[in-house]
Amino acid sequence: MSKIIALVAHDAMKEKLVEWAQNHKEDLSKFQIVATGTTGGKLIDEVGLDVKRLKSGPHGGDAQLGAMIAEDRLNGLFFFIDPLSSMPHDVDVKSLVRLATLYDTPLAVNRSTATAVLSQLALEA
Ligand code: PGA
Repeated sequence: MSKIIALVAHDAMKEKLVEWAQNHKEDLSKFQIVATGTTGGKLIDEVGLDVKRLKSGPHGGDAQLGAMIAEDRLNGLFFFIDPLSSMPHDVDVKSLVRLATLYDTPLAVNRSTATAVLSQLALEA
């Protein structure tokens, strides 16, 4: 059974995530992918990836991913955080990062780290 990874991007970062995902589609396709709602829609429509969409981030999608981490069901988190805006769901963002830290889940919050983490995970996939 393939490993599960999650892709999430805040609004200002969605285009960067789409571009990154297009460039790494082959490696990404080795995994089951889950994503928050809006991010997932873009990955399906603009990248052509097979993605299970959760709720939109501000509506509980981040919390759903946090639950997956706590239940040991997520093998990596690619979270393109907007460093220049405050989010109405900042508590959920912090919670997700906190849980990934607590459970030692591979976590990438920008493109260069995402590339490094994905390469490593793909070797083990
Ligand atoms: P979205 O959620 O993919 O539904 O926009 C992302 C987020 O803000 O956590």
